[in-house]
Amino acid sequence: MCLFCEIIAGNIPSTKVYENDKVYCFNDINPAAPTHVLVVPKKHFDDIRDMASSEEGREYMGEVIKAIDEVAKIRGLDNGFRVINNCGPDGGQTVMHAHYHVIGGVKLTEKMI
Ligand code: 5GP
Ligand code: ZN
Repeated sequence: MCLFCEIIAGNIPSTKVYENDKVYCFNDINPAAPTHVLVVPKKHFDDIRDMASSEEGREYMGEVIKAIDEVAKIRGLDNGFRVINNCGPDGGQTVMHAHYHVIGGVKLTEKMI
């Protein structure tokens, strides 16, 4: 099992922020901002391309979007936040289980784009 599959299975501890039957959301171990939550589909997909390639993956993507909204509400990110997906080696992905960083709780000033 990959690292995030182990976390989802409860074999590796994590700090849960939100969960439903399709997604698990937990604090990043190395936060980049006051809120840094990883939104992770409970089914293993390698990356966003893998999620896009099947009907099931696209259904999970819809669940990811809803979970991002839940996390933002739970954390009170009413003034906005940032969502980041690193895809593949050139995108800087280090854990090869698709996930979405929800970052906020501070005005984010460093912008690449
Ligand atoms: P990536 O670089 O693949 O976009 O993001 C992987 C993220 O997973 C990183 O931000 C990293 O800090 C986080 N991470 C790596 N290992 C663990 C872990 O064991 N627990 C938690 N909560 N986060 C982790
Ligand atoms: Zn996995």
